[in-house]
Amino acid sequence: MFSLSKILAFLLAAVCLAPAQEYEGPRNVTCTEDQKYLIQAAIAGGRDIVNSVLALRTLGEFPEDMSQMTASVNDFERKYFGGPGHGDRQFIIDMFTFVNNSWDQRTWSCPDSCKDVRARAFVKAKYPTTVFICPYWFERGTHASALYNNSIHAELWTSRDSVLIHEMLHTNFDANGKMIIRDQVMPKCIHKSPCKAYGSEKAHVLSVDAPDRALRNADNYMFYALDLMRVQQNALRAVSGKA
Ligand SMILES: [Zn+2]
Repeated sequence: MFSLSKILAFLLAAVCLAPAQEYEGPRNVTCTEDQKYLIQAAIAGGRDIVNSVLALRTLGEFPEDMSQMTASVNDFERKYFGGPGHGDRQFIIDMFTFVNNSWDQRTWSCPDSCKDVRARAFVKAKYPTTVFICPYWFERGTHASALYNNSIHAELWTSRDSVLIHEMLHTNFDANGKMIIRDQVMPKCIHKSPCKAYGSEKAHVLSVDAPDRALRNADNYMFYALDLMRVQQNALRAVSGKA
């Protein structure tokens, strides 16, 4: 028997996991009001995506009717981190928890230009709590959730909220000031720059060829989060279709 109410309760709990916090907006004076507004909207989107991940991974057992959802979550964990049991699931959860707890502690800076004109945003170890947002981020941005029907990862991963999740992961530094989640270089790569593990495909290859690096590569987390967001959206759609 399909227990609709049980599933709905679970999904609503997942959606409501976000702590109710008053968000005062980006704190940096170098961003214009329009820019702050867009950053704030992307933070809201990023929060939702990260909350989906934490809900799906930490709410405990799924109701039995949701075995398909469990399978999908595990498939994506395998795709980006080598699979349950291989990597350190708690480490992955800790990284997303860090992001979840850090949105309000960040300073958002909007430089007039970035060295790489195609760069969307960046983080520097020298300014560990600042996220720099480049002009290109404003120019080309979209929202991940609005792109649900567009299955092209290339567009999803350049959405404004996805980029913020990627950068937020970079703002996690260890006790020695070393960035924990970086942009890793693919193994067997001679030229460093084009060989960074950006994109869903490289993230997956990295999880096969160098799982330790996958566990410390920002895009592995970002794509995992985007795919889990879609697992949750699919489940919500399936449930509302049956209601
Ligand atoms: Zn990066």
